[in-house]
Amino acid sequence: MGYALKETEYRYRAYTKNGVWQVGKLTTDKYISIHEGSNVFHYGQALFEGLKAYKTKAGKIQLFRPDLNFIRINEGLRRLVAPELPEDLFFAAIIEVVKANQDDIPEYGNGQSLYIRPFVIGQGMNLGVKPSDEYLFSVFCAPVGTYFAGGLQALDFVTTDYDRASANGTGQVKVAGNYAASLYPRSIAKSAGYAGVIYLDPLTHSKIDEVGAANFFGITHDNVLVTPQSSSILPSITKRSILYIAEHMLGMKVEERDCFIDNISEFKEGGACGTAAIITPLKSVTHKGKVTQFGDGKVGSTIKKIYDILVGIYYGDIEAPEGWIREIK
Ligand SMILES: *Cc1c(COP(=O)(O)O)cnc(C)c1O
Repeated sequence: MGYALKETEYRYRAYTKNGVWQVGKLTTDKYISIHEGSNVFHYGQALFEGLKAYKTKAGKIQLFRPDLNFIRINEGLRRLVAPELPEDLFFAAIIEVVKANQDDIPEYGNGQSLYIRPFVIGQGMNLGVKPSDEYLFSVFCAPVGTYFAGGLQALDFVTTDYDRASANGTGQVKVAGNYAASLYPRSIAKSAGYAGVIYLDPLTHSKIDEVGAANFFGITHDNVLVTPQSSSILPSITKRSILYIAEHMLGMKVEERDCFIDNISEFKEGGACGTAAIITPLKSVTHKGKVTQFGDGKVGSTIKKIYDILVGIYYGDIEAPEGWIREIK
């Protein structure tokens, strides 16, 4: 089961009819039976999202910026020539799944949460390479702990010559195929003893793109928070939130610009961020055999500050900027 602590009982399923999304419903059946000729099996018409529900100290259940997941899933659906999801269907599915499985939402205080996985697949007999005639939208969830074992702890990463996405490909959307492409470079890095890979920009292989399935950010020696800009990066909601926290809550300067791998020592701290990993500080980056360590190898003080605010907002201990939290009642 990996990242999940256990399976939950209820999931939501909705289907299209003549290209139009129909209202779906909850089910306890975790298996999906679809035609062998379904696009998802052959041509990868599949897309997912990831967000979490958190329990606050007062026992409230809250989602973190789910409106951005909604916008992003529809950007992905447009890229896959699949019908966009209506807002009420997207939220009904998530809210119903969270409520139905609420006994499995981890209690406040142990860093756990309920990971929610919405996804869309193209299904139905379809041997030609073309968009499907039918689609499934489903949401399931599982309680999770921290992504990299050990919580906030700095880890070692290595660059790879492989790309997870191409410059004008599907890197900006959570299309399943990007992750299939990432498994091999990840396994090479893992067997060499690293926590994961750093992808460089696919055109020039000179700039940092992503850290596995998380966005990169660095803190320069002048305390500027920098994060790369690239057409092959998945626009992380966590990254966008960290930029906001650094600028508006910590008064830091922030920049979105190229991060050249040969200039990695411009950063005194480096981090990987995403809903699953939250923030994983980088201890070192190995590139073409050269190891660059960040600071003293421990979690840097700026990253620690950002992490504490972000997690404080997730769990309702710190007041969120307007519109970031959606309570589920
Ligand atoms: C999902 C994902 C992220 C993180 O995005 P969040 O919205 O912060 O969860 C970063 N990179 C890749 C490749 C991803 O798939």
